[in-house]
Amino acid sequence: MLSQSIGEVKGVGEKLQAHLNELGLFTIEDLLFYFPYRYETYEIKPLTELIHNEKATIEGVLTAEPAVNYYGKKKSRLTMTLQVEQFAVKAVMFNRAFAKKQLHKGDTITVTGKWDQHRLQITVSQFKKGEAKSQDPIQPVYTLKESVTLKTLRKVIKAALDEHADEVTEILPEETMLSYKLPDRRQALLQMHYPESRIMLKHAKRRFIYEEFLVFQLKMQLLRKLHRESTKGNAQNYNNDQLTGFVQDLPFELTAAQKRSLAEILKDMKSPYRMNRLLQGDVGSGKTAVAAIALYASITIGKQGALMVPTEILAEQHYHSLSQMFAGRARVVLLTGSVKGKKRKEVLQSIQAHEVDIIVGTHALIQEEVEFNELGFVIVDEQHRFGVNQRRALRGKGLSPDVLFMTATPIPRTLAITAFGDMDVSVIDEMPAGRKPVETYWIKGEMTDRVLGFIEKVVRNGQQAYVICPLIEESDQLDIQNAVDLYQQIAEVYEPNISVGLMHGRLHNEEKEEVMKRFAENELQVLVSTTVVEVGVNVPNATVMVIHDAERFGLSQLHQLRGRVGRGHEQSYCILLADPKGDVGKERMRIMTETTDGFELSEQDLKLRGPGDFFGRKQSGLPEFKVGDMVHDYRALETARADAAEIIVNGSLVHDEQFRPLKELIEQDEHISGEILD
Ligand code: ADP
Ligand code: MG
Repeated sequence: MLSQSIGEVKGVGEKLQAHLNELGLFTIEDLLFYFPYRYETYEIKPLTELIHNEKATIEGVLTAEPAVNYYGKKKSRLTMTLQVEQFAVKAVMFNRAFAKKQLHKGDTITVTGKWDQHRLQITVSQFKKGEAKSQDPIQPVYTLKESVTLKTLRKVIKAALDEHADEVTEILPEETMLSYKLPDRRQALLQMHYPESRIMLKHAKRRFIYEEFLVFQLKMQLLRKLHRESTKGNAQNYNNDQLTGFVQDLPFELTAAQKRSLAEILKDMKSPYRMNRLLQGDVGSGKTAVAAIALYASITIGKQGALMVPTEILAEQHYHSLSQMFAGRARVVLLTGSVKGKKRKEVLQSIQAHEVDIIVGTHALIQEEVEFNELGFVIVDEQHRFGVNQRRALRGKGLSPDVLFMTATPIPRTLAITAFGDMDVSVIDEMPAGRKPVETYWIKGEMTDRVLGFIEKVVRNGQQAYVICPLIEESDQLDIQNAVDLYQQIAEVYEPNISVGLMHGRLHNEEKEEVMKRFAENELQVLVSTTVVEVGVNVPNATVMVIHDAERFGLSQLHQLRGRVGRGHEQSYCILLADPKGDVGKERMRIMTETTDGFELSEQDLKLRGPGDFFGRKQSGLPEFKVGDMVHDYRALETARADAAEIIVNGSLVHDEQFRPLKELIEQDEHISGEILD
């Protein structure tokens, strides 16, 4: 049985089992589906195609008995002459004199090692008797932890394959396999580990990519269906006059993109279904404004609304801006981890008693002790910072509230729709009028007098600047130290004429707030900070953003940081201090200087690097797959999406016998209850 413990596999003792567990491998199935991330090839190429000084594998016939020389204490050198094609190749092997006994004139052997093109000589690291063909030509390389060697893992997985691969059964319907020419599951599995050829491997990968995308899409689309159908009667028939009045009182006219997104959101709210929508838009494009209007719609019919953000500073800021915005219309409270004691009790009580309408907070909002009273609308800012479970917990608290997720990570629309298949997507792809794009410059190297002089000039002009410290990911301690050092250097230059503040993650919340407050009120003109200012902080008077070691940040993060400036009427500037080594790094800096449009940036970066980097993966909230890559294998993802939609709509997932294995697999997902599959 594939669900048996790996302890059942030959050669896996208790100790090894524990180590394998650390790799996330618990069952035999886990082992079978622990795919290599790359392969080593021992392909035999003509000698003329081998590359000097690189690893090569050659096959030849011994033309003489090997000779062994001893030197030093325990050192030996075994020399062989091999007939390869029409050449005599010298193969040298160190400290393995014992091999002499096994190797004799006339034997065919295969050796792998470093190739010397000039001397027709190979320094052997591995040898095997027999033809290359008789060996596995392509060997898997697996991701490891220190406790398990590659050799051991290969052995264990090989044993699991030998003993259990037969139990792997097909889960895709035959029609699908035929129409896409996919290899069957068991074959593909074997090829994933020990491919017979590059082509076979390609097809095996193609198969698993399609499979995992299809399963993912089915789950997402079923969840979406569930959200819609299980929440009938959730219509929010808001008061249109009140809402219009509110919009008219805003100090600005909504952009066309804002109006469009707002209409989409309001339509969801009026519908009997629970809203599950993603609102995408660059920093400063006016997402929060749109979300607040929608929130107010819910308030007009006596519901509560909540805004959940990733940091306390942000919660504070939103609390203040919403309080202003809703003055006389709705009661706003702040609930974060640092609201404590008696005050906290009061806040909690006021929420429960519905004495407040809008609750702004951090994760604290989803704690058990918070009891909402008719929660109708929830906004989650920077959704990627919240785990799926937290989102669900929040949703579960209210009477199926409408949920709006906001993100400033500009994921290309097509990709977003597919990636977040369980959500609808609205995009604000236009900035409010009058914004001047941030002028961006790339300067090689460190902070210079010129940059310092520039900041000084800007500050004299009444504005403010951020200076983002070098990023040291490996060590919190160093990260902070760096910030402190940089702060001292800058303060030394500027003070007392210009006040410099310091912000980093180790400061207590009260200290952070204090610093932010002083910066917001222009008591501090320059703020030296680690990336804690990254998300959402709003100080429109700040017009300069200097980023140290810019090459270490992903484009997305740079873009977010740059979004801290350019929020007021004055011209803003972003200065990237970077010394990228590679072409890609240089190209990224160049792109940053050429565009401020986040969507454009994301598309460009996709072209440049493919996956990973723009989104910074972990940050983006894009799902991760074992074999497939959402960006690189986008076409397969699209195909799977269309197929999943069809399978669900025409009912074959439920009624067609061919789909039973898929259905059973999907039912194992804890979030998909039986009801939608009946
Ligand atoms: P986001 O949440 O997308 O970063 P916000 O909603 O916080 O953007 O808006 C950024 C700033 O622009 C705020 O000060 C907001 O009041 C202002 N703003 C929003 N929409 C408009 C608009 N249509 N015209 C002018 N200013 C706007
Ligand atoms: Mg915002």
